Amino acid sequence: MLTIRDLVKVYPGPVTALQGINLDVPPGMFGLLGPNGAGKSTLMKILAGLLEATSGQVFLDGEDVLSRPERIRQHLGYLPQEFGFYPHLTGEKMLTYLLKLKGVEAPGGLKKLVAELLLRVNLQDAAKRRVKGYSGGMRQRLGIAQAIAGDPRLIIVDEPTAGLDPEERLRFYRILAELAADRIVLLSTHIVEDVAVLCPRFAVIRKGRLVAQTSPSEACQAIEGKVFEGRLGREERAEIQGRGQVIQSILVEGKNRVRVYLPDGVPLAGFEPVQANLEDAYLLLMQDAAQVPRPQAEAPALAAGGAA
Ligand code: ADP
Repeated sequence: MLTIRDLVKVYPGPVTALQGINLDVPPGMFGLLGPNGAGKSTLMKILAGLLEATSGQVFLDGEDVLSRPERIRQHLGYLPQEFGFYPHLTGEKMLTYLLKLKGVEAPGGLKKLVAELLLRVNLQDAAKRRVKGYSGGMRQRLGIAQAIAGDPRLIIVDEPTAGLDPEERLRFYRILAELAADRIVLLSTHIVEDVAVLCPRFAVIRKGRLVAQTSPSEACQAIEGKVFEGRLGREERAEIQGRGQVIQSILVEGKNRVRVYLPDGVPLAGFEPVQANLEDAYLLLMQDAAQVPRPQAEAPALAAGGAA
């Protein structure tokens, strides 16, 4: 279990990037969903021991992460948002270099470990190709190969699917899902689909605060029967004020449609009930409205004396 308590980060400026995060992350895949600037990378970097928190506590299986980052780093895999590669190296050489840098122990030899890791992320056939010829997805998989070296208990991946084409994204999802079978994988993303596909639980972060901790199905259930779609004229717009919220405008077959949330479940004239999806739930959580049912937002205070 990864336990985060009252975590605050103030950058010089001052910019308060994290305003007191409380979160319990169980083994398996866990999503951290939020828009750009919400504080995701800041949180990931603190957890990875690369950035100092202003205050707060983090425990991994009861061990204090912030006061002993060097110990925790051995049990941690991190794939940052911007991963640097030497383009002229082959995948195999690049990975060997990264493993040496990380100080990974390889009882059977580094060569053997590199071959195993490349196989694990499906890059065995590209091992001898230069990284500069790799696609975005292949580079991300090489990044994952270094992150999983040493069999870490916690893997942190920061916005890994941005810029991947659909096929690569799917391949990357499969690798992440496999990794999450026996460890914590914390996935930060602004892409709702990443969470819908991968994460049995997730938290939503906005302006440095967690605004929900829930599962995709719970989040959808909370608004089911209350989402409608139709064309929004001036009259309908006026009616929504005070009754509900516009979720978003969408184009359906080239026509302008609007999805609205009406907590009383009574449709506007000309609007059809539609199945609520995770994007609806997320976009509503991003609004300042008080009417939206919010799944559990804050973790309970840590019991005195340690972490779960
Ligand atoms: P996200 O990863 O969700 O896009 P970040 O953690 O990168 O969000 O940023 C959170 C907030 O902190 C933003 O307002 C950003 O501008 C600010 N920020 C990030 N890094 C720094 C920094 N080094 N100095 C000052 N402000 C920063």
